[in-house]
Order: sequence, then C-alpha cells, then structure tokens
Amino acid sequence: MHLVMIGGSDAGISAALRAGELDPGADVTVVLEDAYPNFSICGIPYYLSGEVTPWRNLAHRTVADLEAAGMRLRLVTTARRIDVPGRKLLITTAAGGEEVLSYDKLIVGTGAVPVLPAIIGVAGHGALGPAAGVHLLHSMGDTFAVMRTLEQAAPASAVIVGAGYIGLEMADALTVRGLAVTQMEQLPEVLPTVDPQLGALVHGELASRGVELLTGTTVHAITKAPRGGAGRLDVAATAADGSAVTRAADMVLVVVGVRPETTLAAEAGAALGVKGAIAVDPGMRTGLPDVFAAGDCVITHHRLLGMTYLPLGTTAHKQGRVAGENALGGNRAFAGSLGTQVVKIFDQAAARTGLRDHEAEAAGFDPVTVQSAADDHKAYYPGSHRITMRVTGDRVTRRLLGLQLFGHKNAEIAKRIDIAATAIFHAMTVDGLSDLDLSYTPPLGSPWDAVQIAAQAWIRQAQGVRA
Ligand SMILES: Cc1cc2nc3c(=O)[nH]c(=O)nc-3n(C[C@H](O)[C@H](O)[C@H](O)COP(=O)(O)OP(=O)(O)OC[C@H]3O[C@@H](n4cnc5c(N)ncnc54)[C@H](O)[C@@H]3O)c2cc1C
Repeated sequence: MHLVMIGGSDAGISAALRAGELDPGADVTVVLEDAYPNFSICGIPYYLSGEVTPWRNLAHRTVADLEAAGMRLRLVTTARRIDVPGRKLLITTAAGGEEVLSYDKLIVGTGAVPVLPAIIGVAGHGALGPAAGVHLLHSMGDTFAVMRTLEQAAPASAVIVGAGYIGLEMADALTVRGLAVTQMEQLPEVLPTVDPQLGALVHGELASRGVELLTGTTVHAITKAPRGGAGRLDVAATAADGSAVTRAADMVLVVVGVRPETTLAAEAGAALGVKGAIAVDPGMRTGLPDVFAAGDCVITHHRLLGMTYLPLGTTAHKQGRVAGENALGGNRAFAGSLGTQVVKIFDQAAARTGLRDHEAEAAGFDPVTVQSAADDHKAYYPGSHRITMRVTGDRVTRRLLGLQLFGHKNAEIAKRIDIAATAIFHAMTVDGLSDLDLSYTPPLGSPWDAVQIAAQAWIRQAQGVRA
C-alpha cells in the first residue's frame, strides 16, 4: 500500500503521521513544494516579532522526527497532475525533472493561498512585491521575505492592510519590533469574526499601544514614494465618507484572507463546494476513486451550520488525521468544527466559538445574545481581570449556540472558550452551562466561573424576553 500526501503542512503531515501510527509498515510519501515540512505557520507572527528564535524552532517536528515516524519526504517537489484512473501523480522534482509517482491512495492537502486584493501595486501588472517592501504572509518563504525587509531595510513604519486575526497579530508583532504601525480595514470594526462590541475593545487595546487604526478605509493603491519622502511607499485609500486617505510607510503587509488552493484536485475532476473549496464527505473522501483531501483546501463540516469554509490549523490537523486513517481502509468521520478560535493582541485576548446572532438566525435558530462581564478570579486576590462575554442561545430551545470573550491574556480566555466549545459540541443548553461542575480556588477562579455568570445573565434576559 503506497500512500501519497500532497502538502507538508498541518493536513498532509497529520495524515501521514496517523497512517504511520496505524500501520508502521505503510509506505508513505509526502510531496511538498517547499523545504519546510510540518512548520507551525501559526507561529510566524512570533518569529517576526523576535519573540521566537531561531526560525527552525517553528517546526512542530524536525525532518529527522518525521522520517523516524515512517514517512518519506519529497521536499521542493511540486505535484503537477493527478491521473485518477491510473493512480499516478506527475511531479516536478527538486532537481527540476519530471517524475511519475504511483499511489494506491492519495491525500490532497494543498492548503490555502493568500487572497490578492485588486489593489494597484499588489496584484496584476506593476505589482511591487517583497523587494519593494510589499508583502503577503502565509508560507515560510513569505516569512523569510518579511524578515529580510525587517533586517535589511530597517523599516521605521508599516501599513497593514486588513484587521483580521493575522493582521492583528502582525500589528502586535511589528509594534513590539519598534515599527510605527498603521492598520487599514475596510469594514467598520477590527476583528470582524467577533461582534463589533468586542471588536471595539480589541480596537481600544491596539490604539492604546500606539497602532493607528483606520477602519471603514479601503486601500486602492500602493506605489513607490518619491525619494526624500516619509517612507519608501505611499498607500492610497478611501475612507467611508469618500474622502481620500494617504499614508507613507517603509513596508506594507497585505493580509486580507485566504482562498483554498484547489487547482490540482479540480483539474483531476474533484467537485468543489462552499467558497470553491474541494467537496469532501465527513470521511474526507473527494468522490474521486482513492483520492482524499483535508485542511484549508476543503470545505468544513460544521456542527451547527452543515457545510461551510473555515480554514484553521486546528481543523486541518483533525481532518488530516481522519484522511490518513480512512486511506488505510478505516471509517473515521471528522466530527465537525465550531469555528473555535482565540487570538492574542498585545496583553489581551479575544475568542469565539459557535455562532453569532446573525449566523444563528441564518441557520434557522431563534437567537438572543446577551453581553455581561465578570472577573476571571476573586477580585480580592491580586491580579484579577474583567472578562467581557457575549453568550448566544436559542430563545425557544435554550440551546447554547455561541460564546465570544475578550479579556486579559492571563485571564484563561482560551480555557473558557473551550468550556463553551465543549458544551456546544454536546448540544447543551445555556442552563446546562450554568450547572457545570467547574473548578474553584480564589487565585484562579470564582465559585461561579465567569462563563457561568455569563450563562446566568443570558438566562435572566431570556426569561425577560419570554415574559
Ligand atoms: C500567520 C498565520 C497565523 C495563523 N494562526 C493560526 C492560529 O493561531 N490558529 C489556527 O487554528 N490557525 C491559524 N492559522 C491557519 C493555519 O495555519 C492553517 O489553517 C493551516 O496551516 C492549514 O494547513 P494545511 O495543511 O491545510 O495547508 P497549508 O498550511 O496551506 O499547507 C499547504 C501545503 O501544501 C503544499 N502544496 C500546495 N500545493 C502543492 C503542490 N502542487 N505540490 C506540492 N505541494 C503543494 C504547500 O507547500 C504546503 O506544504 C494561521 C495561518 C497563518 C498564515
């Protein structure tokens, strides 16, 4: 049995590890375009900030670890074409030649690529690129290019286009490095994956650290600045009221989201689904004989929404594991995502799981969202922090649908979002969340944990709504 994985990141490597675990004798080959298998690209902002060095420490496992786990790595090797009936993969090797790999089962883990917005200087004719200080950020190659700019051009200022979680992590990272950062976001508030009430708190944290935030601002051109200007580049944008906004900067980072990389699978005949991602069943089967797919290149099965597209590392690991097991003849199913995520912004953290009001409504629920606040531990013990919480539940069934949190990075925001994720995963009610037996000691918690206080605030309001 020869298993071939295309892609050496979270999905491809998880699949290979699972296959090796189940059948140490399995013949497993991982084909990847670059030379950095199993790197934690989620850690890139912390390498660029200077907090994690050297870059090799971003590897979840070394090449030697991976080979010891039983896989053969084909680095700097590009998969070009899948011959589905012949079960063959055409590759371009590191030396530049062509080769054909036969497989019994194939797992496509080609991931995602950054969205290139239609901004002059970023996409199309006249795109400036890293040498001029205009960067995208997804791969280790992109990371090295940003680091080259930071080290060789010694920029004093940066504009970040986009204020999603990666843009925010990079605003934090570049500020920590000493750059003056301006962040431009076309939506009315930063971190649009949470409600604007929490986005405003994130906004406040960034502003208090000196990040200039221009929301409702759409960038349309990045051009080289004339010599003697305030920066190497000029960024031209339009504010929500139609007025022109310009900023000079030494570097620009464009981080406005990703799209699934599906070219290979689509050309081989795989069906595409939500957002153009590869359609797979919960067993990660593409519908093409002997071809599985996992990670950022596939649609995401969501426990509350059905099918969606939610590219996250945590999901890619789980889907890859399922694909690896099923490629060996198993019958595992991906249990489904809840979009659980957390991000650190300087000393604060924001997190969400499940659905927000408008998402729940679109999915046929009758949602109500209630905001409340509580201390992470007893306020009389030093170092307590206030957490702002937004619970979404169904008015009729009282089912817990979502939780959003904002609070200090030491306030166990991740642990608390995971309590709610566990509750939603098991279809609990908001009342059930309030009833959970959670731990307590004054330096670390309260007799009612903050998430239970949030649940009780929801229950009070829901009862009011019902009356
Ligand atoms: C800066 C940053 C921070 C992030 N932070 C978080 C976080 O905190 N939490 C979280 O859950 N997620 C985070 N993510 C998202 C997470 O990293 C991705 O969801 C995850 O890496 C997806 O893994 P993947 O294996 O599906 O795809 P990718 O990581 O995109 O990897 C795709 C792989 O396929 C290879 N490939 C593609 N085409 C070919 C081809 N034709 N031939 C050979 N090889 C090919 C690539 O070289 C690569 O090895 C972050 C992402 C970034 C960029």
